Amino acid sequence: MSKLIVGNWKMNGSKDSVLELVNSLLDCEFDNKVVVAPSFVYLDLVSSIFASKNSNISLAAQDLSIHNNGAYTGQVSSSMLADLSCKYVLVGHSERRSLCLEDNNIVAKKTLVAIKEGLIPIVCLGEDKKIYEEGKTETFIKKQLLTVLDKLKDHSDFVIAYEPVWAIGTGLVASAEYVGQVHEFLRKTVSDHSINLAKSPQILYGGSVKPENAASLLSMAEVDGLLVGGASLQAESFKKICGTV
Ligand code: PEP
Repeated sequence: MSKLIVGNWKMNGSKDSVLELVNSLLDCEFDNKVVVAPSFVYLDLVSSIFASKNSNISLAAQDLSIHNNGAYTGQVSSSMLADLSCKYVLVGHSERRSLCLEDNNIVAKKTLVAIKEGLIPIVCLGEDKKIYEEGKTETFIKKQLLTVLDKLKDHSDFVIAYEPVWAIGTGLVASAEYVGQVHEFLRKTVSDHSINLAKSPQILYGGSVKPENAASLLSMAEVDGLLVGGASLQAESFKKICGTV
């Protein structure tokens, strides 16, 4: 079954390098559903190329404002993202939680704002190294997820990305078995909640995914896809990950 592979380009690239990367991806057909999340400033460029080539690669933004419009210098609203044909938006990435002090409540609000606009939020959550080592992962991520679920309306459509913070950009990868167990726990947390969803959310794994480990992660039935940072910036490695099923 086709899975969802999301490339998070973070604050990387230039107009030239983004064009090169996008053109290289457009040359391919993928086994999986592919999404890329360029910086805000390149969304329009990438969106126009995808539209002109009739590409089935989807566009995601890396963040959104909780506000609709107004005096919020530097922020980008959900309607602006929809205007640029974004289909997805990352919400609560660990870098936003740690560097921009976004707490569970802000993440929940952003999730709701995205859904109201018709965007599909990719809600990122995961424990840091200390919590992992103390064996408190489930308690921690359950709270992160429940804060979001409590705010959602029935039939909301969203994606969960489980990203252990200790695995992001570190080269440390959670084992496929560990990821499978955590995803099963997240799925149960969703199904135990009273929310009535249109469809069960896809649950992605993120954290030092590379062509070498993508296949074993994707082979797990509990893993519906991958959120890829560093390895999505090189066309060859991202293409290998996207083609791996
Ligand atoms: C990320 O930033 O979401 C991520 C998973 O990064 P990396 O793949 O580089 O660990």
